[in-house]
Amino acid sequence: MKLYNIKENDEQVSFGQAVRQGLGRNQGLFFPSNLPKFDDIDALLAEDFVTRSTKVLSALIGDELPAEQVNALVDAAFQFPAPIKQVKDGVYALELFHGPTLAFKDFGGRFMAQSLAAVSDGGKITILTATSGDTGAAVAHAFYGMEDINVVILYPKGKISPLQEKLFCTLGKNIHTVAIDGDFDACQALVKQAFDDQALREEIGLNSANSINISRLMAQICYYFEAASQLTKAQRENLVISVPSGNFGNLTAGLLAKALGLPIKRFIAATNANDTVPRYLETGKWEPKPTVATTSNAMDVSQPNNWPRIEELCRIKEWGLETLGKGAVSDEQSAESVKALNALGYLCEPHGAIAYRLLEEQLAEGETGLFLCTAHPAKFKEVVDDILGSDIELPGPLAKHAAMELLSEDLANDFDALKVVLRRVQ
Ligand SMILES: *Cc1c(COP(=O)(O)O)cnc(C)c1O
Repeated sequence: MKLYNIKENDEQVSFGQAVRQGLGRNQGLFFPSNLPKFDDIDALLAEDFVTRSTKVLSALIGDELPAEQVNALVDAAFQFPAPIKQVKDGVYALELFHGPTLAFKDFGGRFMAQSLAAVSDGGKITILTATSGDTGAAVAHAFYGMEDINVVILYPKGKISPLQEKLFCTLGKNIHTVAIDGDFDACQALVKQAFDDQALREEIGLNSANSINISRLMAQICYYFEAASQLTKAQRENLVISVPSGNFGNLTAGLLAKALGLPIKRFIAATNANDTVPRYLETGKWEPKPTVATTSNAMDVSQPNNWPRIEELCRIKEWGLETLGKGAVSDEQSAESVKALNALGYLCEPHGAIAYRLLEEQLAEGETGLFLCTAHPAKFKEVVDDILGSDIELPGPLAKHAAMELLSEDLANDFDALKVVLRRVQ
């Protein structure tokens, strides 16, 4: 597999390098130089999840890793299903929360951990990642106990749900969690600063598990195929997919699935009040505002990292950006949609409900709609109970971690202070 740096096109790397390095020079994202195209999609969709995902990822990775090895990585990473559930006529939920940390981030986090172990050159590795809640848990659990890999996770203090925090800040061992006095964009900026510090980068073998790492996006491509495989051929020819978006990794993966030949008619880029992208699609002006806190906190991102990849893909494929559906949903509206879904007999948390709302608004006659349910409702228990007046039950992993002690340390939004932590945990 060959990838190039979107900002500095002369920087070309292999899959292994891209996974180890995360980000290219000048903070440029890596993008595949060649996108294979599957001609017989029906045959591909007839395969089981692991076999099909192996084929998709092998086609991307090429001869850098033998197919048997890719199969072993996929098999180890994808140990849980991605079912679709019908919520009403022509509208389906894609449940991506059946992994160990109950959010879609488990797919990418676990495949990345497997890939990194497979392409490691034996040197020291420090994973530094920023999280708006769910990446932290997925990455912490995926790398927990792995030898020679230290994980440092930054998150905005007081801005993630208490249960989200418990799920990854209670592990210990090689997992170090740091509550930053700032918002998610501040955490993300600190990670970027660390990557810009070449000496530090080499000293501690810096890597990132954010969705800037191409392996995470590659894993996510696979569940779009899995969703389509559960629909009839007629349904998938008219498929509209609504994606609740923060850093826009999930939508990038969906667009990549389309580029590989999956017949998706259109996507909807759904955000909360942090609406940089919907405004940009409307006006053509990229004008991030300060991040605001919402009840869908995993999407509280105003400077989405993956957007340049979407621009690049649309440029290459000559897909007009204006063909992307879009919309921004307020907390009040997302609460209404949680209630509307509940009335249909489907329990959903605010991130999924935002995607549902825009799908409902934009789905045309004869189309089949799919909205991504990115987290288990219990992961946002406080919000969901508040909206529905319910007391939803915690699934096993959440109940276990909820009872454990928090091990995080607090830190100022300051790069020098972070450097001290990064050196100390070695
Ligand atoms: C991370 C996350 C999102 C946003 O996904 P992106 O790929 O960053 O756009 C949406 N919902 C939940 C529950 C998440 O954890």
